[in-house]
Amino acid sequence: MDGLFGQSDGLIRLIVFLSVFLVMALIELALPKRTLIAPKGRRWLTNLGISVTASLVLRLMAMLAVPVAAIAAAFYAQEHHIGLLNNLAWPEWVKVVVALLVLDLAIWAQHLASHKIPILWRLHKVHHADRDIDVTTAVRFHPVEIALSMVWKIVVVVPLGASPFSVFLFEVILNACAMFNHANIALPLPLDRVLRLFIITPDMHRVHHSVLRREHDTNYGFNLSVWDRVFRTYTAQPEGGHLGMTIGLTPYQSEDPTRFGWSLLLPFRRTGFATTPARPTAPVEDHAATQKPT
Ligand SMILES: [Zn+2]
Repeated sequence: MDGLFGQSDGLIRLIVFLSVFLVMALIELALPKRTLIAPKGRRWLTNLGISVTASLVLRLMAMLAVPVAAIAAAFYAQEHHIGLLNNLAWPEWVKVVVALLVLDLAIWAQHLASHKIPILWRLHKVHHADRDIDVTTAVRFHPVEIALSMVWKIVVVVPLGASPFSVFLFEVILNACAMFNHANIALPLPLDRVLRLFIITPDMHRVHHSVLRREHDTNYGFNLSVWDRVFRTYTAQPEGGHLGMTIGLTPYQSEDPTRFGWSLLLPFRRTGFATTPARPTAPVEDHAATQKPT
């Protein structure tokens, strides 16, 4: 089964990415939920530019012969019979399901950590600084955060003994679900209610992009909604309503987050201030500011 996609997994992932992206972008045009603040042109170039830069960083790391790709790590573990699932005689489909569940929980935990550990939050807030949320927000992750995430996946994949196929499938599902739950689409409410019993819907994830810390420190899931319910980090709806809530981070309610250079340098900047504050009197509610008042 693994040999089927071993050579072309990158191509398959790209095709799925482009297809889901296109479908979400079209639904956003037909059924938009919120009116976007910033014009799409520069924001989209910035968000997609950050994503391309992240891919180049990973490519570079791979060229340096570091086993960064989670799928490559899974191949290695399989060949050397390392990891729990590689040493169990369970049916293959059961192993795939277990691997998908464990990887999803691992990504949920990583997301929680990136909100709670200040140095990880510095990287992750590039994603949260976007003042609008749509399909391109799903790929707006700092390259260093993507690289760390790859290392974290390897740390999970090898001892778990997840097969290359299950890691590949997880990557495709994660990518597609992230584009779906970041999309600015107005899903009919009855459909949202049923879907969110199982997966993260756009309304559920929008709460996570609120400027209010008590809201953006909840709804950490990307695929399954069960983890936020089990670990009591679930917020059903935003206080300000989906149309009234403010998206992004309070210190950065300006044009800055739509700029490519500003976004990539954000983790290395002194926290709490935008270079061109639109509302200088706005209360600062960034994590660093609330954790370590100066
Ligand atoms: Zn987050």
